[in-house]
Amino acid sequence: MSEQDFQKPFYLCAMALHATNREDTYLHQGRRRKLMEALRERGITDEKVLAAMDKIPRHFFLDPAFASYAYQDQAFPIGAGQTISQPYTVAFQTQLLQVRPFEKVLEVGTGSAYQSCVLAEMGATVYTIERQLPLFEYNNNFFFLKNYLSNIKRFYGDGFEGLPAFAPFHKILITAAAPAIPLKLIEQLMVGGILVAPVDSDTPGIQKMMRFIKTPTGFDQEILGDFSFVPMLSGKENTEKI
Ligand code: SAH
Repeated sequence: MSEQDFQKPFYLCAMALHATNREDTYLHQGRRRKLMEALRERGITDEKVLAAMDKIPRHFFLDPAFASYAYQDQAFPIGAGQTISQPYTVAFQTQLLQVRPFEKVLEVGTGSAYQSCVLAEMGATVYTIERQLPLFEYNNNFFFLKNYLSNIKRFYGDGFEGLPAFAPFHKILITAAAPAIPLKLIEQLMVGGILVAPVDSDTPGIQKMMRFIKTPTGFDQEILGDFSFVPMLSGKENTEKI
C-alpha cells in the first residue's frame, strides 16, 4: 500500500465532514423544528422570530466537531474565545427588538453572524460590528453569508462607537455584556427606536437584559431577566487565529 493510498480514506473522510456541514438535510430541519417547539415552550411567542430561526441552518455556523449539538439550546465556542449565543437568548433578544421589514438594525458583536442572519431573514438591513479581526475575516469567506450580501453590512471596529455615519437606526442590538448603559449608542437611535442590551449587574458574570426606547427627551427603560454573555470590550483586537 503506498503512502498515498493510506492517506486517501482520511482525505475522503475530511471531505465528507465538510460536505455534511454544508448540507441542510431533513434530519437537520427536523431537529430545528423541535428546537423551535422548545423555544415556544420556554415562552417565545413571536412567530416571526421563530420562522426566521427555523430557516437558518445553525449547524453551518458551528465548527463541524459541534455540528451534532447545533439544535440543542446551548451556546458554543466559535473561536477567538467567543461564543455563538444560545438559541433561547437569540430568540429572546430578537423578540424584544420587534424588528419589521426594511428597518435599519445595528448589531454589536457579529461573532458567528448567526444573529445577523436571523435579523436579515426578518427583512431588516443589518449593520454589524465585530472587534476581533479573525472572526471578521472568517466571515469574509463564509459561504452561507453570500445569501445576504445586500442586507448584511459587516464592519471591523469597536461597537462602543457605533456607526455614526449610518445613524440613526430603528433598532440596536448588543450581543456582548455591556459594562453600563450604552448612552453613546442610544444617541444613534431614532426617536421611538429600541435598543436591547445585556448590562452588567452587581453579580459578577450576570447581566440584566435591558430594553431602552428612545423618547423625544431621553429614553425609557425596562429590565427583563438575567443572562450571561461574553464581555463587550473596547478597541479592536487581532490576537488568536481561528
Ligand atoms: N451575535 C453573535 C454573538 C457573538 S458573542 C452570534 O450570533 O454569534 C459576542 C461577540 O461580540 C464576540 O464575537 C465579541 O468579539 C464581540 N464584541 C465584544 N465587544 C465588542 C465591541 N466593543 N465591538 C464589537 N464587537 C464586540
